[in-house]
Amino acid sequence: MELSHRGKHFVELAAESERDLRFLLNIPDNYKTLFLQGGATQHFAQLPMNFARRDQIADYIVTGHWSEKAVREAKPLVDVRVAANSAASNYTAIPARDSWALHDDAAYVHYTPNETIHGVEFQQIPDVGKVPLFADMSSDILSRPVDVSKFGVIYAGAQKNIGAAGLVVMIVREDLLERCPKDMPKIFNYAEHAAHDSMLNTPNTFGWYLAGLVFKWLLREGGLVAMGERNRAKMALLYGCIDGSGGFYRNPVDKAARSWMNVPFTLSDDNLNAAFLKESEGAGLMALRGHKAVGGMRASLYNAVPMQAVQALVDFMRDFARRNG
Ligand SMILES: *Cc1c(COP(=O)(O)O)cnc(C)c1O
Repeated sequence: MELSHRGKHFVELAAESERDLRFLLNIPDNYKTLFLQGGATQHFAQLPMNFARRDQIADYIVTGHWSEKAVREAKPLVDVRVAANSAASNYTAIPARDSWALHDDAAYVHYTPNETIHGVEFQQIPDVGKVPLFADMSSDILSRPVDVSKFGVIYAGAQKNIGAAGLVVMIVREDLLERCPKDMPKIFNYAEHAAHDSMLNTPNTFGWYLAGLVFKWLLREGGLVAMGERNRAKMALLYGCIDGSGGFYRNPVDKAARSWMNVPFTLSDDNLNAAFLKESEGAGLMALRGHKAVGGMRASLYNAVPMQAVQALVDFMRDFARRNG
């Protein structure tokens, strides 16, 4: 942790982690990869600072908590238009593509492929024509293969599916960097970060190191095709348990938009929540309390969660339902 980020060891580690990430995601040559800080939230604001003029329209697709936050942070910086919004369904579905009110002259279209709190995930990359598509992949990056060439920008806070908090991985199409204004502070300017290989100032070296180890692990496990198969089996087991519980457990999300990574569920009787949490913790199943915006429970099935953990959860849930149903 004391090694200089300018030293040979760290520079090699950084280059190797980038090579591994590029291989895992099959990132085309005309994309830069950046290892930044600030959390995804800082980039909600930094994206419009770099890629749009203040008087330009930017289209946002709002499908839950995190896309709402992205809108809030961008509003002071660009003419934000909400082109589609599923708030009326309590964020349990994705608005049909043909209902989106997109602008041909928008600077970009922003969306959240996986809504971590609401458990809503796009199963396809939306076609938005020539306007660059920006995606906050904080909770689904590296969970299965994705066609990077369909995006202008992909960015993700590392703490869900990559490694330690404090690192943001960004993949940006090179031509977009020409939009970055010259008259902004360098530290916010993505073109500057790209020109300095993400070492404009001291990067989060430990987070970067850890991310590199995770990329190696993913390669050893068979890459994103293997992770996708594993994640598909994990989510199928858990949704199968919920749907087969005769209504004891419910997941409110449209089946066509269910998240592979974050599975919110409620119990038929909210009065059982406390007992469920206490007993599940007793069984070694941690952090199942749902976000207060949704209530109930939430199981996150990130890459680090093995199938055995999902099986243990399902066994517990079936037993709990039998005793309390
Ligand atoms: C967790 C999360 C965020 C917030 O990330 P920070 O690093 O805390 O800013 C943003 N978007 C999504 C989709 C998330 O899951």
